[in-house]
Amino acid sequence: PSSGLDIPTPTSIEVLIRVRPLLSHESDEDTRNASSCISTLADNRTISINHPSKQLQCEYDWSFPQSSSQEEIYDKVNSCVNSFTNGFNATIFAYGQTGSGKTHTMFGPEGYAVQRSTYGGPNHAILNANAGVIPRSIVQIFKNLHRKDLGIVNVTAYVSFVQVYNEQLFDMLRDPRRSSSLEIHEEPGQGIYVSGLSEYAVRNAGDCLALVKLGEENRAIRETHMNTASSRSHSLFQIIVEQTRIEDGAEGERVLKSKFNLVDLAGSEKWDTRKERKFNNDQISELTNINLSLYTLGRCIAALAKNGKALEKDPDAIPVHVPYRESKLTRLLQDSLGGNSKTVLIATLSPASDCLEESVSTLRFADRAH
Ligand code: ADP
Ligand code: MG
Repeated sequence: PSSGLDIPTPTSIEVLIRVRPLLSHESDEDTRNASSCISTLADNRTISINHPSKQLQCEYDWSFPQSSSQEEIYDKVNSCVNSFTNGFNATIFAYGQTGSGKTHTMFGPEGYAVQRSTYGGPNHAILNANAGVIPRSIVQIFKNLHRKDLGIVNVTAYVSFVQVYNEQLFDMLRDPRRSSSLEIHEEPGQGIYVSGLSEYAVRNAGDCLALVKLGEENRAIRETHMNTASSRSHSLFQIIVEQTRIEDGAEGERVLKSKFNLVDLAGSEKWDTRKERKFNNDQISELTNINLSLYTLGRCIAALAKNGKALEKDPDAIPVHVPYRESKLTRLLQDSLGGNSKTVLIATLSPASDCLEESVSTLRFADRAH
């Protein structure tokens, strides 16, 4: 059988921008009275800012207009999902200010994406039209792995779900009232792993969607009981697939192992801790850590993009250093970014005029990856 391999170029990083519609609480005259000042051009690449204080146009791999559906977003990351089931590591990040649509894009509207879906066997998961990238990817992954023409003779898949909060790791597939923070380890031959982290074997999309739902429930419990805010933490949903293939014309079997990371990042907004006197020292350390990990992520992505471009020009180019070790999140992802992996950054924006400064900062972050 033909493997239909879509072989990624060295560390290709794709940057997608999504502008969500203006929400009523933003446009309400009595509250924020904001207007929409961000749009996309017909080339589907250019973002255009049009405001008395700022006019700007910048180009990315793809820019989604306010009217884009969840399905349209998914269609642009589907090749990344296929690349993963063909044995390559892949990562999708959602980056943006709190309230800009990261969770909506990755999971779906609050609490609905998974709850409303019905699923039976491997190919019978039916998702709500508003389901986000994660549930849609899960359905596609198991469709691919159950294909008859790829010569897959054996496959195992594992799922884990971690939250990184204040540079500490928490297992989202365990009751947060009975679990504490976990440590990252690195062993030669085993790579990066988190000791004590729950890893569930999954046989089909239904199993996998049930774990997304469990993670979302535990996240809600953490917010209520531990007083954490998801806007200040990174959520990493990881799927690992090991498959054995026997291909026509090839001798023996081929074992493929790949990781897929789906990351809903902490809010990227600046926090002025001096202005907000109500913050205590712990909170200031928390805010510094969010900024540290997003800052480190930005540096890693920029270095990877630079290395990818250099290698494309000259296969012997000496890569620049990627500072993975400087934050927990990038350390966790260290062995699945880079190499011939695929990375997609979805930067989300509110079009509201009073979010303009943060939106420009998000576009600047995305530009460094591009
Ligand atoms: P974030 O995770 O970045 O903080 P959310 O995904 O929670 O943001 O979105 C904030 C609000 O905006 C939610 O009420 C959500 O339903 C709404 N929203 C986000 N994206 C869209 C969209 N594309 N269309 C309609 N509403 C959206
Ligand atoms: Mg969110």
